[in-house]
Amino acid sequence: VKTWIPDERNFAYLTWKQVDALPRDHTLLILPTAAIEQHGYHLPLATDTLINNLLLGKALRIIPKEMPIYALPAVCYGKSNEHLGFPGTLSVSAQTFLAVVRDLGASIAASGFKKVVLYNTHGGNSPLVDVLARDLRAEFGLRTFSLFGSPDAQFEGVSRQERTYGFHAGEIETAYLLHCAPDLVRTGQYTANYIARVEQLELLKPEGSSANFAWLTGDIAPSGVLGDPSAATAENGERWSNDAAARIAEILVAMYNFEPRHGA
Ligand SMILES: [Zn+2]
Repeated sequence: VKTWIPDERNFAYLTWKQVDALPRDHTLLILPTAAIEQHGYHLPLATDTLINNLLLGKALRIIPKEMPIYALPAVCYGKSNEHLGFPGTLSVSAQTFLAVVRDLGASIAASGFKKVVLYNTHGGNSPLVDVLARDLRAEFGLRTFSLFGSPDAQFEGVSRQERTYGFHAGEIETAYLLHCAPDLVRTGQYTANYIARVEQLELLKPEGSSANFAWLTGDIAPSGVLGDPSAATAENGERWSNDAAARIAEILVAMYNFEPRHGA
């Protein structure tokens, strides 16, 4: 898989003697979590993993050099059972995902590190990442943080419909890929499906409200796309990824400097 992580920020390129010499009590390790799953006719299976790497790689290029902040190799297999039935989707169960990240947390703690960030770019993993962030704190005393997607990105120009229901392989993901890996985008193969319409005020929503219905991609989207990629451009992908990376860099620095306050 392609990488935008600078070599000097790649934890897996260190030797154990170099790791041993790190200031481990305040080094910040980032564990990316993503997916290998269908993304319609037009985007590759690794889309969520590539976007994670792109945004994190750009962010790591702008954080101050002297801060010991490293990216671990990604857990690129995620909980993707919403996309089962589409060939190429490689999903692990919730139990497996929880066990793998928990065991990596155990290794991180056993290596003497104190601070870890879970950076997730696949929606199906998000509830598990929330659970893990607290469990790694409780079980190993790790100072744990969670970070999701493109924090605070404005996505100017994207319609309210696409912003709300462009869940998967829609305009935003396609724009990111057109920017970073245009050779992997089949621009003649776009399809569009929506799970719901913003102008229809249904009582039950697909997610994020107080009353939701559980969905599988195959229920709604024969092509596997939830959203509409047709307005995506490489220029927007570049601008949005730079904006998101700038915000991620700020957040990582805040996590690096974070000290919990009692009674604040
Ligand atoms: Zn995706």
